[in-house]
Amino acid sequence: MKEFKTESKRILDLMINSIYTNKEIFLRELISNASDAIDKLKFISLTDTSVDTDFKIEIVADKKHGKLIVKDNGIGMNEADLEKNLGTIAESGTLAFKKENESEKELIGQFGVGFYSAFMVADKIEVRTKKYGEEKAYRFESSGAEGYEITETSKDGFGTEITLTLKKDTDDYKYSDFLEQYKITSLVKKYSDYIRYPIETDVTRSKKKEGSSDDKPEYEDVTEKEILNSMIPLWKKPKAEVKDEDLSEFYKNEFHDYTDPLKNIYFKIEGNVTYDALLFIPAKAPYDYYSKDFKKGLKLYSNGVMIMEKCEDLLPDYLAFIRGVVDSSDLSLNISREILQQDRQVKAIATTLEKKILGELKKLLEEDRETYEKAFKEFGLSLKFGCYEMFGMNKDKLKDLIMFYSGRNEKLVTLSEYVKSMPEDQKEIYYACGENYEKIKELPKIEKAREKGYDVLFMKDGVDEFVVKILDEYESKKFKSVGETDFSLDTEGEKAEIEKKSEEFKDVLAEIKNALSGKVAEVRLTGELKTYPVCLSSKGEISIEMEKVLNSMPNSEGKVSAEKVLEISANHPIAETLKKAYEEDKEKLKKYAVVLYESARLLEGLPVDSAQSFVSMLSDII
Ligand code: ADP
Repeated sequence: MKEFKTESKRILDLMINSIYTNKEIFLRELISNASDAIDKLKFISLTDTSVDTDFKIEIVADKKHGKLIVKDNGIGMNEADLEKNLGTIAESGTLAFKKENESEKELIGQFGVGFYSAFMVADKIEVRTKKYGEEKAYRFESSGAEGYEITETSKDGFGTEITLTLKKDTDDYKYSDFLEQYKITSLVKKYSDYIRYPIETDVTRSKKKEGSSDDKPEYEDVTEKEILNSMIPLWKKPKAEVKDEDLSEFYKNEFHDYTDPLKNIYFKIEGNVTYDALLFIPAKAPYDYYSKDFKKGLKLYSNGVMIMEKCEDLLPDYLAFIRGVVDSSDLSLNISREILQQDRQVKAIATTLEKKILGELKKLLEEDRETYEKAFKEFGLSLKFGCYEMFGMNKDKLKDLIMFYSGRNEKLVTLSEYVKSMPEDQKEIYYACGENYEKIKELPKIEKAREKGYDVLFMKDGVDEFVVKILDEYESKKFKSVGETDFSLDTEGEKAEIEKKSEEFKDVLAEIKNALSGKVAEVRLTGELKTYPVCLSSKGEISIEMEKVLNSMPNSEGKVSAEKVLEISANHPIAETLKKAYEEDKEKLKKYAVVLYESARLLEGLPVDSAQSFVSMLSDII
């Protein structure tokens, strides 16, 4: 018996005592090794016509002895190969293992650890193998960390046969499941469907006995070899051969969705990294999409072998809704190859993917508005978050993909469309925030904007105003909240009139501000209110909507406060009433101030500051 090298022993120990839940990946690893071995012999068969080219991988379940066998007719191994390949774990693998804080799950889950992963499910592994062009066959046997033995044996044909003696079932894990037909079939479908060689196993089905009558059918169990995998990845087929229905079916199967996707994005990239990508925009956001439980990621294949179900690193957060498959021959399958290099490859793929997806979204917006809007209704929030997060790092990539509701057109518009439709005298992009479109429509300031022929973007999502703050401008037009705008100051005549009246009201306004003891930063007259006597606006960095959003966040303690401005309509009879109260009864004015302030809060969708004083002062007045 030979001992494993120290580092190999550590990895073996890890495998043998693994509590990793995804033990089933061992089958994928063995199948992909078999497929690699066949690849090598296939290459030789191009020049050596004596090679049997009926390439296949076979899985045999021996229930009686609790054994699972994976056979291939690939290149095989000789004694030296066994020693080198199975007796030691490649240098890069051990290097990775030395990295601190690498959890078992990360280690196994991300890369798999090839042949050794079989020790997660097996007590004993026996390898019988004969190398192409050689006479002798060898047997490698190991029951774990103590060591391994290599002996001579006999074997028909080239290739490798790996026999796993499965561990005994425990309360926590049923290893014998791996001998069940359904399990084998589903694992091959799940992980190895696109392996280019047939993966065969004996399948027993109950069939009608030949000759038995239709009235009284008799059945018998018939065992036949069946190919479990489809062998050709959809994304490897020429585009012309793949129908939209095929893609939709594939999507639904692969991602367990009941609805057809809104769009598929299907492309090949060749260059620094070469890969095929088959991506989808789902029709519906998953129920947990906007929660922290949602996990983004694309299925990652290396040459038709799945290596990761959700590779997070391939997608930026704002594209988390994209589902799909990436298959690259530049990626290695196992930990035993260069991990750092692999990381770089993944990054390179992610960069080109992002560009491509954004390009496709833009195209969709231009060419199929209806579908884009459907997608935007589901996932637009994600794009908006993308604009805003990381201090707006991605805003330029996304600003043309986001849409807002146009108050004038009552539909979604892009910023570019908004700017194009601006009348010549309009200098800024106006927006208004509120709980929903109906409520925004009722905001006091909207009326005036409409009168002037300005469109207003209605913003109902919490993130909206943060997005416009971070964008700051679009095509050199600044964003401006209608709440912070006094449209009546636009025309000279109106402006002069307001200024005159404000001078006249100076003391009244100061007294009101005083009465509100710090709750507002300013009290002023406005000429633009039509229906309402008062409204609340803000100045400074934080708007009233932002105050609402920030205070509704967990752990906010409601401490955020906008600098509020109480605006009083100069044209409303209430203005004169206030003046009169100032001159005759200052106590009364104080009460008026509180009632008006609280009313303005209500109009803005803010809660009443002090219900008690509001009600008592209101009843006093009445
Ligand atoms: P990796 O596949 O990443 O190299 P493994 O531990 O799975 O790591 O396998 C180590 C090596 O053993 C492989 O590189 C290959 O050379 C050899 N090997 C494994 N399985 C087979 C097989 N079925 N046929 C031929 N060679 C194999």
